[in-house]
Amino acid sequence: MNRGTQAQIDPTAWQHNVQCVREWAPQARVWAVVKANAYGHGVERAAQALSSADGYAVATLGEAIELRRLQPHHPILLLEGVNRAEQLADVVACQLQTVVHCQTQLDQIRQSTAQRLDTQPLVVWLKVDTGMHRLGFAPSDLASARSLLANCPGVQLEGVMTHLACADALDQPEPTLQQLALFDACVRPGDRLSIANSAAVIGWPQTHNDWVRPGIMLYGSSPFAERNGVDLGLRPVMTLTAPVLAVRTVLAGEAIGYGHVWRAERDSRIATVAIGYGDGYPRQAPNGTPIWLNGQTVPLAGRVSMDMLMIDVTDLDRVSVGDMTELWGKRLSVDEVARAIGTIGYELLTRVTARVERV
Ligand SMILES: *Cc1c(COP(=O)(O)O)cnc(C)c1O
Repeated sequence: MNRGTQAQIDPTAWQHNVQCVREWAPQARVWAVVKANAYGHGVERAAQALSSADGYAVATLGEAIELRRLQPHHPILLLEGVNRAEQLADVVACQLQTVVHCQTQLDQIRQSTAQRLDTQPLVVWLKVDTGMHRLGFAPSDLASARSLLANCPGVQLEGVMTHLACADALDQPEPTLQQLALFDACVRPGDRLSIANSAAVIGWPQTHNDWVRPGIMLYGSSPFAERNGVDLGLRPVMTLTAPVLAVRTVLAGEAIGYGHVWRAERDSRIATVAIGYGDGYPRQAPNGTPIWLNGQTVPLAGRVSMDMLMIDVTDLDRVSVGDMTELWGKRLSVDEVARAIGTIGYELLTRVTARVERV
């Protein structure tokens, strides 16, 4: 039996957020990015609720194969491509579209097309490194990558893509403008293009092109450090809740939890909550990190342990064992919690562990 620690998933919020993407990028087709188990939300439900998108994008072949079982017909894009030649057979068999970002992958395609017997094409997106310097061909190598692919029988070049390093920095446009200029200079008329992550969907309309690749915004969290998802009109999909297990009084001067890193300045009421870093709530969360309970936010008190954490509820009118706290979600933005912890909503959502029941 579960102890009541839950990630409640709201499928109507997914549908709303896809609609937001459509409004921001009305001309573009939408790859719904569902990598990392749909940013921790559970890929099965995500795929279902996001089926109004034009396709899905994932990071790994394992993710793509699982998704193909759930969604027999939607396009699926493999964002990093494969790293072993044998995997190309799975790419074709599962009808995936795969990214090719380096010479090694080109060599693997050449090897495998030489011996391929199947009639399905291998559908490829070429990735250009315009400044992120993570994956992709140098712009000056794109033309030769194209001609190598053109000489591989059964390979279909579907489009050309790049990824932006600083799309979330709307007040510092230079690096993004530079990346876009480099991309413009190496693509050809008639290429299908894909650039935009969530930040670019919202902040850089000139990047929308043929396909956008939103991830975090679909989950209702903001790609921008200084704004919450709700301020952008998005709805949080995940609400993470955990019950109060115990309530006690500690006297001024007493300390609580491992390392005694929180000490009462006044006689205090302390509630112990059934969630910890074993559930994905970060141990790095400092004293004062907001947690919602009974209509207001209260501060985290003391170090997060594996299965529990404690909050200072002295200023709450009433607290009982069994009351539900919200760690983030509809009442408390994951983006605000992330700021208090010094991370981003992406990481908090993705880290929720399998022990937490998704309902
Ligand atoms: C994860 C990822 C995205 C989605 O990014 P968000 O910031 O979550 O919108 C888009 N493109 C690529 C290549 C990615 O790896």
